[in-house]
Amino acid sequence: MPVPRRYTTEAIVLSRFDLGEADRVLTLITPGGGKLKAIAKGVRRTTSRLGGSLEPFAELTVSLARGRTFEVVTQVSVGHAWLNLRDSLESAATAWYLAELADRSLEERHAAEPLYALLRRAYELLDAGMAPGRVARWYEVHLLDELGMRPEVDRCVECDRMLEAEERFRWVPPLGGVICQRCPGPPHERTGLTLEGLKLLKAYQRLDIEALAELRLAATVEREVETALRDFVGQALERQARSLAFLDEVRHTPVAR
Ligand SMILES: [Zn+2]
Repeated sequence: MPVPRRYTTEAIVLSRFDLGEADRVLTLITPGGGKLKAIAKGVRRTTSRLGGSLEPFAELTVSLARGRTFEVVTQVSVGHAWLNLRDSLESAATAWYLAELADRSLEERHAAEPLYALLRRAYELLDAGMAPGRVARWYEVHLLDELGMRPEVDRCVECDRMLEAEERFRWVPPLGGVICQRCPGPPHERTGLTLEGLKLLKAYQRLDIEALAELRLAATVEREVETALRDFVGQALERQARSLAFLDEVRHTPVAR
């Protein structure tokens, strides 16, 4: 079916940059059209009709006209603003990180319903006040599923033997998961993984988000799994996300109140 010249879609802003004197180019994720770039003309003028609505961390309904290079935004309204998400610097920085991962995972103009739904749900959870670290880990694990790069946490990635609780494990992202104590693994990749860390990785793959929110976890285990998944996602997407530096900075800055 030919794509119409003008169409309306749900969209979330993943990133944006200013162009010329008053325009802005947005990278949007849409359920049916995937990732696409759209220009909002004159949006930085105070008189612009589009102005305030084209913000990140919101589900928008946008009308677009097909252009040669970019789509052109002709109308926009806000569906869900997720305003609470912006109240904490950490949840806002996490939202940027999740958007960057979606941006980097998608090719332009390929349908992306599952990833769109994943990002949308993650923003709802941040908005509802769920711990940003839990939301981020849950999102990373499901993003890897969508990319067909689910980490192996049940069997050794080298010898395929079922891992047993008594043994020592290592986390080797370049090989796709955990290796057992019998296998040598690559010489420079010897990150140990505790049994608690391994269990939590399994939990992120198996439990729904409500159950994950309830877990009582030691900070050290959460930190271990955070590092493990960041390394894995960085490997899968071929480099670390740029927004992580900012996220780490705001997390370690005491909030003045
Ligand atoms: Zn092995």
